[in-house]
Amino acid sequence: MFDKILIANRGEIALRVIRAAREMGIKSVAVHSTADADAMHVRMADEAVCIGPPPSTDSYLSIPAIISACEITGAQAIHPGYGFLSENANFVQIVEDHGITFIGPTAEHIRIMGDKITAKDTMKALGVPCVPGSDGGVPTLADAKRIGAEIGYPVIVKATAGGGGRGMKVALTEADMESAFMTARSESKAAFGNDEVYIEKYLTTPRHIEIQVFGDGKGRAVHLGERDCSLQRRHQKVFEEAPGPVITPEERARIGKVCADAVAAINYIGAGTIEFLYENGEFYFIEMNTRLQVEHPVTEAIFGVDLVREQIRVAEGLPMSFTQEDLVINGHAIEVRINAEKLPNFAPCPGRITQYHAPGGLGVRIDSALYDGYRIPPYYDSLIGKLIVHGRDRPEALARLARALGELIVDGVDTTIPLFHALLQEEDVQTGNYNIHWLEHWLKTHLPA
Ligand code: ADP
Repeated sequence: MFDKILIANRGEIALRVIRAAREMGIKSVAVHSTADADAMHVRMADEAVCIGPPPSTDSYLSIPAIISACEITGAQAIHPGYGFLSENANFVQIVEDHGITFIGPTAEHIRIMGDKITAKDTMKALGVPCVPGSDGGVPTLADAKRIGAEIGYPVIVKATAGGGGRGMKVALTEADMESAFMTARSESKAAFGNDEVYIEKYLTTPRHIEIQVFGDGKGRAVHLGERDCSLQRRHQKVFEEAPGPVITPEERARIGKVCADAVAAINYIGAGTIEFLYENGEFYFIEMNTRLQVEHPVTEAIFGVDLVREQIRVAEGLPMSFTQEDLVINGHAIEVRINAEKLPNFAPCPGRITQYHAPGGLGVRIDSALYDGYRIPPYYDSLIGKLIVHGRDRPEALARLARALGELIVDGVDTTIPLFHALLQEEDVQTGNYNIHWLEHWLKTHLPA
């Protein structure tokens, strides 16, 4: 059993891990940049180590600093949270080489899934349905045009190394191909230092449905149903729910089994998410995230499980504490992401929180590192909190969300809270009638930039 773990992250996700560790009787070590000396994760952990100056490249992404913090404090394992080093195979290798346990999948699995082409090939071989597209990377514009003609327009050009919605460009017709191909390549080069791109059929009205999987690293794996994360802005999720409003129990059981069998076959360990686009009753794999997702609490709510506890357990070599039969859906959960951003442009809005009041009551969970007087530093992601509600069914969850949003007060900076008040008035949101483009269209007409 671990008696001390280090959390290589900040903000709400660092608190999330500290909380799980504390409930398990495990001590936690926070790491922080100088900009985060007053942050909540530093206050809440049992110990804290300053690992560098504000820019994340010199602190939260500094592998030597994090390894040193582990050695100084005697932490036996590292939980990476999401983002930062969570999907960095090189980091995992170095952690393991130092005799420290990485709470997450192996470096090899991270490497396979981090390259979208290898990921797709692997999933295809494991029987997971994929979006039709190029076989591997597309080196030249001439190849891109040939493949575009073969698959049929519209197509999407995507960065092999992509993430966070970057390095993705749609070509509606062949006339758009040159600009889509060149832009996706240069964006990818700038963001990921790699300009390889591949091409997929562009699905015009899909939903984003992702399956939560969990493996013990010894050939056993389960699925925890789906999350519908179709409400997106610039390919980034803003509102997530589980179960998906249009997925039937039969579809869930079928795709869930395909996913669980796939990760069992590769001896996957820990939490993972297999992302699909869903259109006309068909699932099309787009990528796998080898970490805990921001939106994991909606799954925890409907299954009554603690995914971080489970991650820590399997990292210790213990079995999962549930079987597939134990995992029964109870009710409906919705998460909204509260960002410090100014509408209508969603410009980051760091600054001092002059008043913070969190909602409470039945079925309400807030995962946030905010407190009165906290100063949101300008260096990091603008996510400042997640509001998660759970109800017996979708209408109850929606009513609870409206009620909880009404209680939530975040003063001093602009936030995305007004966006959710407005969205809850929409009939399509009330009925779950949306696809991945719905929010972009809505923003154009309701919040013109
Ligand atoms: P990232 O790793 O940058 O998040 P993904 O491959 O997960 O990239 O895609 C992110 C989002 O982009 C999807 O949720 C969807 O909205 C859109 N997208 C990706 N591939 C396609 C496609 N083939 N057709 C239509 N939309 C797509």
